[in-house]
Amino acid sequence: MSECIFCKIVDGQIPAAKLIETEKVISFLDINPVNPGHALVAPKRHVSSLLDLRQDELHVLMFVAKRVAAAVIRATGSPAFNILQNDGEAAGQIIDHVHFHVIPRDSEDGFRLGWRHLKYAEGQIEQLQQAIQQNL
Ligand code: AMP
Ligand code: ZN
Repeated sequence: MSECIFCKIVDGQIPAAKLIETEKVISFLDINPVNPGHALVAPKRHVSSLLDLRQDELHVLMFVAKRVAAAVIRATGSPAFNILQNDGEAAGQIIDHVHFHVIPRDSEDGFRLGWRHLKYAEGQIEQLQQAIQQNL
């Protein structure tokens, strides 16, 4: 039996505040929200990384995330939202089952992503552009 919490939610073994369920995707409220209405959208199949998702799963995941985001902002009255995905431990992923966070936002909510704006060294941006293009 899977030890994954999200697989257990998919299987109905543990409760969750479900929002929508399709053949391949499930969405439910995050139990410890950044803001009330913070939702999660996950494929039903256990996959750790976004990179391991099939195209059909990815399509429906993004489609449902958009639909949930629209419903969350209507329901909460929030003027804005973030869609985030932590992929890998170093990126803050705690649950090893890929999911998008849909977080309703308000300019006064005090939540900061801590975004920074580094500068590239001379030639570094071109080098990375080439390296990434070669891996596409
Ligand atoms: P991440 O760091 O992207 O892996 O986020 C995992 C998220 O799952 C966190 O925001 C948790 O609050 C949330 N979470 C953990 N367990 C549950 C649960 N049983 N039901 C709903 N959300 C959960
Ligand atoms: Zn799982």
